[in-house]
Amino acid sequence: MTYNGSASATERTIECPASLVFPRAKRSSKYAESGQAKHAFVRAVLAGAPLNVALAGVGPKDRATCENLQWHSLIGDLQSVRCEAAYALDPIARTARYLGTNVGRNYAQFNLGPDEIPGTIDLEGETYGGRAVVADLKSGFMDVTDAVDNGQLHFAATVRHLVTGASEVEGRIEKLRIDGSVYTESRTVYVTFDFDVFLDEMAHALEESRRARRVFFSGGTPDVSVGPWCRYCEAMEACPAYTSLARSMVADTYKLESAVGILTREQAGAAWKKAKQIETMLKRVIETIKDRARQENLPIEGTGKCVSEISFERSDLDVPAALALLREKGATPEEIAGLQHTTTVRQVREVNDPTAAPKPKRVRKLSKNAAAEPSAESIASELAADPVALDRLGVIDELFRLEENIVLNREESGQ
Ligand code: SF4
Repeated sequence: MTYNGSASATERTIECPASLVFPRAKRSSKYAESGQAKHAFVRAVLAGAPLNVALAGVGPKDRATCENLQWHSLIGDLQSVRCEAAYALDPIARTARYLGTNVGRNYAQFNLGPDEIPGTIDLEGETYGGRAVVADLKSGFMDVTDAVDNGQLHFAATVRHLVTGASEVEGRIEKLRIDGSVYTESRTVYVTFDFDVFLDEMAHALEESRRARRVFFSGGTPDVSVGPWCRYCEAMEACPAYTSLARSMVADTYKLESAVGILTREQAGAAWKKAKQIETMLKRVIETIKDRARQENLPIEGTGKCVSEISFERSDLDVPAALALLREKGATPEEIAGLQHTTTVRQVREVNDPTAAPKPKRVRKLSKNAAAEPSAESIASELAADPVALDRLGVIDELFRLEENIVLNREESGQ
């Protein structure tokens, strides 16, 4: 089966089609595992699992977040909600097919066609105004590409368009905070033009990846394109850009360190870019060594030391649990806010240059209907005042009741 990437690698596939060609090393991290646990929890609850059963699969660190998840903010304005629906998109035939839910990214079982790219949509549904919606649920502190430029969301919206025939699909980036609150970080409405452009881009990327594959298997070096999309590239260890970087890394590091004081502003900016590439590569090297050290000790020559996995007790305050306890004990929002202390953080990091010319990009606007869409809050208050409407809402109705039950149980048990 030809490897065509997946929805989560959309941006990388478009920017660097050769990334589909090199040998890949699969790896996971505790952050990815935490995100998957939260997704599994949402999926289980939406599928009708009792809250305590769904929570059983969540680790202690994420438990309070899931327990306090604000369902009304996440899906309060949606109906026919489905979680973790997997599809295969064929950008050349311009078709998409539904594979199933809860397939665990195990796409190989579906006998994918040579041009099909698999992907899973975190959440899909429909507003009460009838617009198709796809959402990507993110947690953690990493910056997420805005909805208008987000490749994964674009993939999901295009699939929904092809499967349902919807001419407009709203894409949302939903951010889940550690305290269980949810907010829409960005949103956009994709229209027919966007789907066409996306399918063209993906079809072109697949063709380019095939060209790169022919070069690679005939002993050549395919062209690659380095950028932010390299961060999670599974082919980085085999990528010519990074392997040659690794070879020159030590010499470059010494050069950069001694020369930085006399560089022009532009040269110093270029040195930053190079240093960040070295940093990315080094992190990957260190993570790979750590994986090995989890299996066996690695001696460090001439030092009498070795690299090894160790464990020790550490005691941290569980902030989400502490917040939940304070609420249960009757602390008011003002009292909780009073415990928060604000300090100014100074960091040197990459930000948008206010003097740079604006980057040309596709402009997608919310359609006129978007302004008329009711907010989650207004729907929630309408539901509360209209029990007949509440009865019509199936799974959302159930979720609101679940949230209320948690509060009632706590009140009854005097917590
Ligand atoms: S690491 Fe190499 S192969 Fe992967 S996206 Fe970056 S440039 Fe392309």
